[in-house]
Amino acid sequence: QALTPDPETANFVRQVPLADYSYVTPRIPSKPYLIHAVAEVAESIGLEQEDIKSTDFLHYFSGKEVYPDTRPFAMNYAGHQFGNWAGQLGDGRAIVLGEVEHHNQLWTLQLKGAGKTPYSRRGDGLAVLRSSIREYLCAEAMHHLGVPTSRSLSLIGTGDEVLRDMLYDGNADYEKGAVVCRVAPTFLRFGSFEVHAARQEQEQLQQLADFVIREYHPEITSDGPEKYTAFFKAVCEKTLQLMVEWQRVGFVHGVMNTDNMSVHGITIDYGPYGWLEDYNLNWTPNTTDSQHHRYAYGNQPDVALWNLIQLANALYPLIGAAEPLEAVLNAYGRQFDAAFLQMNRDKLGLATVHESDEKVVRAFLTCLEKIETDYTIFFRLLATVQKTDSPEAALARVNDAFYTPSQCAGDVATAWLDTFQSYLDRLELEPQSDAERAAAMNQVNPKYVLRNYMAQLAIDAANQDDFSLIHELHELLKKPYDEQPEHEKWFSKRPDWARTKVGCSM
Ligand code: AMP
Ligand code: MG
Ligand code: MG
Repeated sequence: QALTPDPETANFVRQVPLADYSYVTPRIPSKPYLIHAVAEVAESIGLEQEDIKSTDFLHYFSGKEVYPDTRPFAMNYAGHQFGNWAGQLGDGRAIVLGEVEHHNQLWTLQLKGAGKTPYSRRGDGLAVLRSSIREYLCAEAMHHLGVPTSRSLSLIGTGDEVLRDMLYDGNADYEKGAVVCRVAPTFLRFGSFEVHAARQEQEQLQQLADFVIREYHPEITSDGPEKYTAFFKAVCEKTLQLMVEWQRVGFVHGVMNTDNMSVHGITIDYGPYGWLEDYNLNWTPNTTDSQHHRYAYGNQPDVALWNLIQLANALYPLIGAAEPLEAVLNAYGRQFDAAFLQMNRDKLGLATVHESDEKVVRAFLTCLEKIETDYTIFFRLLATVQKTDSPEAALARVNDAFYTPSQCAGDVATAWLDTFQSYLDRLELEPQSDAERAAAMNQVNPKYVLRNYMAQLAIDAANQDDFSLIHELHELLKKPYDEQPEHEKWFSKRPDWARTKVGCSM
């Protein structure tokens, strides 16, 4: 239910009790221009190729015009940020254009960067081209990796300048503005429930839960408290699966606040995210988190559980008992460990299950931390190991994954050789041939990911009005598991100049 007194004044900043959303009017960009659109996403909402090139498309997905008989709105939600309760947050720079039903699926279309809303707090409601390119490309890259995510429909420059003081040099500067249209079942977050629970808005809380269950959980047929417990269990399972997937591909979200956690278990709100280059559990792309590493790569599964506990607290009033929620939460650790082990079996090409698997997985992950090793390149090269290799020959095959190969000496080399010996022993138990194993591994270990410096190169070019790299990277990342000889240059370790470059969201 939306409580807005007057659409004309809807965009002023305020607390909005009792509401899931507020009607707003997108800001009109001065000179919108299409930079990129994803044909596949356009098709999924019922648009055709020609539509993408139309003026209507440019106007509707930049905020210049509102589609007839629709009313855009910004969503209300709260959240825990870096472990602290932050109260009402809401869509400060996102505006839902509406929902589209196509092929029996309901999609929400949302603009990011289309101006102020009641939830903008001290922000300007705008997005710069830099952060828009990062979100736009990464969401599509994730989709093609098989990781649940919001999709990108369009990237449109606004022709307006946006003031930002978070540049790498610390100085305020104008940057090009942009609007991304992103697509997801809904953009409901854990925080969408927390906002009602915190305000003791029982009726609104229940309405919201009933809506999500009715529209997105046809499998839930129970009533009363059991219905909401089933919903919570579904969110837990999807979130757990998402964490396994993030760990598999080496994606680090960077801002896993409860307001950035989707109740559909999809990746949303791409900000200062980053991709693991060298395998480092403690790595975070978020400079504001460089002290505590709360949202570092290795912490993501635990943080997800912490966030699920906050969601459980928010849903508690609908259930009236803690035990059912606790039972679901208590299973998370065990279920995650099992799913994580299976995911690593897949990465190592172990098609059968054996008692020693956990030891072999542990040995590899321990070795990866001993020496700066490129996570993506390592697992691609690992697929070339032959059962008949000696440990030394196997180790030589992954040599190019090491940032400084000469560091693989002494105790480190011994640990690696021991690990390869146990891996080769384990491969003896595998019925698959070397070629079959390699093919399977190359379906779960991507060859191409959106390394931080790649996005940065696309951004630097785009700021000079050259969008060719956005097109090239989009094409490349559509097939992250395929050999793409014409793109071999993107299968290489991060260059030295990019060593300290991190993601930046603002
Ligand atoms: P994030 O951590 O980027 O997902 O954002 C946290 C909160 O800040 C959300 O409520 C956002 O809508 C809001 N926010 C971030 N950037 C801006 C901006 N430029 N203008 C208004 N609100 C913003
Ligand atoms: Mg409601
Ligand atoms: Mg957010």
